Amino acid sequence: MNKNLQELIEVSLLDKEIDLMEPKIAQIRKNLTAKETEKEKKEILIADLNEEKNEYAILLTKCEETLAGASSKLEEITKKMTDVKTDKELKALNIEEEIAKEQITFQNSEIQRIEKLIQATEEKIQTSHQELAELDTQIQEIEGAISSEIDEIKKEQAEISKKKSTLVEKMDQKVVVFYEKVRKWAKSTSVVPVYKQACGGCFIRLNDRAYSELLKGDSVSTCPHCGRILFVEEMTH
Ligand SMILES: [Zn+2]
Repeated sequence: MNKNLQELIEVSLLDKEIDLMEPKIAQIRKNLTAKETEKEKKEILIADLNEEKNEYAILLTKCEETLAGASSKLEEITKKMTDVKTDKELKALNIEEEIAKEQITFQNSEIQRIEKLIQATEEKIQTSHQELAELDTQIQEIEGAISSEIDEIKKEQAEISKKKSTLVEKMDQKVVVFYEKVRKWAKSTSVVPVYKQACGGCFIRLNDRAYSELLKGDSVSTCPHCGRILFVEEMTH
């Protein structure tokens, strides 16, 4: 068999093994990933709640300022009332007094309302922090449980990768570049066997001329339909 093709088959088998590792790790990490996502969401929630709390605090300050303004206005009116001269003046002052008092009542109830909101938000923040700490503990536990399993797979992965690079180094680099190009889209089905004269990747039958070219095995042949690298199964035995 063509040496280039033989090496391509070998390298594609190693790549296939490497490709299987990532989903394996992802499967093991699934629970962990779910918890990490939950943690991220919780952190966003806490940031949102803090922002909400700040907005309430700004609102509270405004109310307190308005209240202080209305209170001093009321004091002023009370002072003016002591040296009022006419009924008309008194009436005008009474109206002003009423407005100031209404303002004070309103701002006081607003302050109460906002303070309650701040308290509720603070409670939510506290609960969220507790939940976050709990998630951290769970994440650590899962990490501890799966780390040796993942390390094992990564070790295996590194060994196969080393085997691959040793093989690739001694290969014809033009063939390697071509293979990598096919691999970009065909992934683990870049080098496929031909069954009953059909491509093992796209399953379209090769015409007799293409098939006899392939059987000669002089060069690296590709499927005329999909472009995958082909080999005839019997040739490997
Ligand atoms: Zn094909």
